[in-house]
Amino acid sequence: MALLKHTPTEVMERKSLVINPAKTCQPIGAMYASFGIHGCLPHSHGSQGCCAYHRSTLTRHYKEPISASTSSFTEGASVFGGHANLLQAMNNIFSVYEPEVIAVHTTCLSETIGDDLNQIRDKAEKTGKLPEGKTFIGAPTPSYVGSHVTGFSNMVKAMAMLAEPSGKKNGKVNIIPGWVEPCDMGEIKRLAAMVGVDITLFPDTDGVLNAPLTGEYKMFPDGGVTVKELKRCGDAVGTLALGEWCSADAARWLDSKCKVPCTVLDMPFGLAATDRFIDVLRTVAGVSVPDAVAFERGQLVDMISDMHQYLYGKRVAIWGDPDQLISMCEFLVSLDMQPVYVVTGTPGKKFEKRIREICEGQPFEVKVKAKGDMFEMHQWIKNEPVDLLIGNTYGKYMARDEDIPLLRWGFPILDRQGHQYFPTVGYKGGLRLLEKILGLLLDRKDRDDPETQFELVL
Ligand code: SF4
Repeated sequence: MALLKHTPTEVMERKSLVINPAKTCQPIGAMYASFGIHGCLPHSHGSQGCCAYHRSTLTRHYKEPISASTSSFTEGASVFGGHANLLQAMNNIFSVYEPEVIAVHTTCLSETIGDDLNQIRDKAEKTGKLPEGKTFIGAPTPSYVGSHVTGFSNMVKAMAMLAEPSGKKNGKVNIIPGWVEPCDMGEIKRLAAMVGVDITLFPDTDGVLNAPLTGEYKMFPDGGVTVKELKRCGDAVGTLALGEWCSADAARWLDSKCKVPCTVLDMPFGLAATDRFIDVLRTVAGVSVPDAVAFERGQLVDMISDMHQYLYGKRVAIWGDPDQLISMCEFLVSLDMQPVYVVTGTPGKKFEKRIREICEGQPFEVKVKAKGDMFEMHQWIKNEPVDLLIGNTYGKYMARDEDIPLLRWGFPILDRQGHQYFPTVGYKGGLRLLEKILGLLLDRKDRDDPETQFELVL
């Protein structure tokens, strides 16, 4: 079997063709971010097909019902624009589903026609289609540029633009976590509370896309940042943006328009990136690192030093989103592993530069590509194999064809569970990542070792 058995070893130059892209489309990111607002209904301003695709991808990853509405473009709207459709949709949405907020994102079609969401919002306000006390936010998400990461970032910026600074600082810190799992957002809140920093986290999908089964359906679960909190984020003493690609635009907007100084950090995956995150938090709080946090860090360091021999020199191929890959590569290098192939489908030469900097001086040469695809990475692997794959579910074909273990990490994960519940950020998340990496490598060792070296204790 094997869907990808036909992948040739010989790498030929390809300029106008992408095969198995390491990305998906902008509105999926915008839709995911929207779920991080309490009482929000994401709305897709385009045709039904786009909305169905975005919803089903998120449903398959989070295993939760993904409710979103659509402007349902047909031939007329596709030619003359979808103003009327969106106004009609708002009528229905607010009378039937009663959300607090609608977060509208565009699609390729509505962007090509040139629909202007600000203009439509103004008209909705003037004609009473946007009821008193309800909120409309909108983000342009043309999918023929960028990726799902760009869409996420655009929607997060739209959230920041709700800020209404009063001129008086409220002592809180905004944290923009970037595209991480709901449980990762929960872990970031837990760490901030341990250090003693009062934060506003946005978006916050914790409690929304990892909510418990209670027997009672809630269209709008309890979690999410509220509009009230978003309005106050202009009064914060600072913003921590986790990830240049996912979070920096919103943080810089708050900096320039509301005078909330921003710091852009890497996502806190792995030891060093978590250290930097904790260091900024404790500086803001004006405290030393609490013992409880140092304890968790020590546990991660302990596991690294205990198991280093099994990690040393292992070659890894990794693909996904830029912010996640940067921190993961740094973590792998710190474990003396070798992230030899690194691919993202999201454009950005800065990404390639950053990965090269992380791998500089290491005993391996990294092949890195932004706007790349998994087909080419598969070809690299065929030419010079690796010991481990790290990435989303789409890697399972390569894993099977090349008989290489796969750590499912990133988006989307369509065929396994747990990613919504077990964080991989912070020190505890580092322990989980390490446990999973070691599990895969040691299972492989147990499978392949000759009987004379088959050990009970590893
Ligand atoms: S790429 Fe464009 S047309 Fe295709 S699903 Fe995404 S938004 Fe719709």
